[in-house]
Amino acid sequence: MKVAMIVLCCMASLLGMPAVGQPAPGDMNVHWDAGAANCQAHTPRPLQVHRYDANTYLLRESLCQTYEGPFIYLLIGTSRALLIDTGDVADANKMPLASTVLGLLPQVNGKRMPLLIAHTHGHLDHRSGDGQFAAAPDVAIVGTDLPHVIEGFGFHDWPNDIAHIDLGERTVDVIATPGHYPSHVSFYDANTGLVFSGDFFLPGRLIIDDTEADRASAARINQFLRDRLVTYVLGSHVELDRHGQTEPMGSNWHPDEAPLPLSKEDLAQLPQVLASFNGFYSQSDRFTVYSQTRMLQLVGAIAVLLLIVIVLSLRWWFRRRRHTHDGQP
Ligand SMILES: [Zn+2]
Ligand SMILES: [Zn+2]
Repeated sequence: MKVAMIVLCCMASLLGMPAVGQPAPGDMNVHWDAGAANCQAHTPRPLQVHRYDANTYLLRESLCQTYEGPFIYLLIGTSRALLIDTGDVADANKMPLASTVLGLLPQVNGKRMPLLIAHTHGHLDHRSGDGQFAAAPDVAIVGTDLPHVIEGFGFHDWPNDIAHIDLGERTVDVIATPGHYPSHVSFYDANTGLVFSGDFFLPGRLIIDDTEADRASAARINQFLRDRLVTYVLGSHVELDRHGQTEPMGSNWHPDEAPLPLSKEDLAQLPQVLASFNGFYSQSDRFTVYSQTRMLQLVGAIAVLLLIVIVLSLRWWFRRRRHTHDGQP
């Protein structure tokens, strides 16, 4: 048996095929639409669809529809399909998400394959398209708050255990990655070796809400992936250009965007990047890490301080004026 496996492996490598147990490589040769400097004058297609392999699609909402330009992923098994996130645009007239996704699903026993919609997390740019699927039959949606995430994926010891989604000859592992959002999860698809890391890890700003949870998540996902083959780590946004500079906040135009895929090695750097994070803001290699909550608190504290200084200055000025006035003959 062992000899047969070795022969099979050798034949596979000679034929350029993936060895037994190795994820088949897909097509990552895609140029994502850059949006436009003037979205009124030039309107690119609202939704770009890239076929990674026969059963895996990478979709992206146009930067002209939403500066978030979120990526959405569709994984098809033999009994059902999984859609990871539904993007930032609710209106089906502007964003034909449901019609596109449902149109990509194969038929099983004369019926369209059932679809499970899950999310990396509950921020609106990842779930605004949910409503488009409301009337579609055989579509189930996992909620985004923590109790729904725990129950919907079947976690028994959140955030320490790994949950699994069975799509039929395709199992997707669900890894708890809170930190950016309390119920954030990442997905690992053993069939392709793809990791879907949402806003937890992406080529852009890593916004952290809970630093300790994020550090634990970085350790947890790296531990999980240590002995697994990873082809690409795919986040939900690209916010860097090819020179490693962050795109301007809110920009509808990314003319020289960095590639979407990150690697297992990039992800392995995350614990170190987070170790040097001071809780407010840090820039480490390509990764800008900051806490929006802490930054807002800081801005709030500075505003309050400024207000106190202004009030005290005015009080001092009025008193001085009154004093000068009273002192007049
Ligand atoms: Zn987010
Ligand atoms: Zn996002």
